[in-house]
Amino acid sequence: MQLSDFGTEEQRVAALKELDILDTPPEERFDRLTRIATRIFNVPVAQITLLDGDRQWFKSIQGAELTEVPRAITFCTHTVETANGTMVITDAEKDSRFDGNPMVHSEPNIRFYAGSSLSYSENVRLGTLCILDVKPRQMSENDIAILEDLAAVAQREIITMQLAMLDELTGLSNRRGFISRAESSLSLAKRENIKVSLAFIDLDKFKLINDNFGHKKGDEALVVFSRLVKSVCRSSDLIARIGGDEFVVLFMGSDKDSAEKKLKNLAEKIVEVNSNSPYEILFSHGVVECDLQKEISISALLDESDKLMYVDKNQKRKN
Ligand code: GH3
Ligand code: MG
Repeated sequence: MQLSDFGTEEQRVAALKELDILDTPPEERFDRLTRIATRIFNVPVAQITLLDGDRQWFKSIQGAELTEVPRAITFCTHTVETANGTMVITDAEKDSRFDGNPMVHSEPNIRFYAGSSLSYSENVRLGTLCILDVKPRQMSENDIAILEDLAAVAQREIITMQLAMLDELTGLSNRRGFISRAESSLSLAKRENIKVSLAFIDLDKFKLINDNFGHKKGDEALVVFSRLVKSVCRSSDLIARIGGDEFVVLFMGSDKDSAEKKLKNLAEKIVEVNSNSPYEILFSHGVVECDLQKEISISALLDESDKLMYVDKNQKRKN
């Protein structure tokens, strides 16, 4: 683990996972920014980079046909460790940190670099917006301010994307976030032949908590429940609050039986929590195992598991 004032390596990788931005297709809103950067600074290359473990991945790149490079040879690794988050290398051949760098002494023969960091919550730096040239250059204070402004726009774009996919109350993914992430998780499961099961959960008589203890306590119950769900899941599982009191979990590497076991574990934990709480949290659920041989759509899986959840709920109502 590498410690730094700007987030540990683990925090950076976790933030990128949470954002679900790595290996996503190019997007105009980011390409526009790198295009603007090449025009304003009259440089051949501009990039939006994200530092993921041992690679640097490009969310956007102008002037080169790359998707990623090994992290060890990148300039941006140094930029995110710089106190103010911005680094300018006017001539890489004259800088001891980079004169032995293969990107400097051989193709693409980089001589000039300027990058400004993109930060995420709690000052975790994800990567940079940067410009490169094959000849030495200077940056004026005004140039640096413009570069930092462009990086701030890129950073805002990344965070907006995240907020649109997040449930504010619980910090879990919302429906939109779930669908987007579940699609990539299902493709991965298909490729790697990993078993996947989807659980649909709806709280029982949740309105009673609101009615008897107030909406604030209802909110609290939703947060308590989301934490309990998290506690029975693995970090590779995908948990979301997709409606008022509706939650879903895409269990990665779990068949139906193993997903049912985790939900049983959840129910047991809830009994314990209820025994020390003025209100009672109860839930019904339905689980479907994905048939990876078939073309699977997330919405079909949600429908199927929702139906099973209702069977469970109706059964409970009868008892
Ligand atoms: P059932 O047993 O049939 O599931 O009924 P229920 O009382 O759980 O109610 P239902 O699932 O039909 O509807 C969910 C309720 O959750 C509706 C709304 O009053 C409440 N709710 C939805 N979003 C929130 C929220 O963000 N906070 C709080 N406190 N309550 C919410
Ligand atoms: Mg309910």
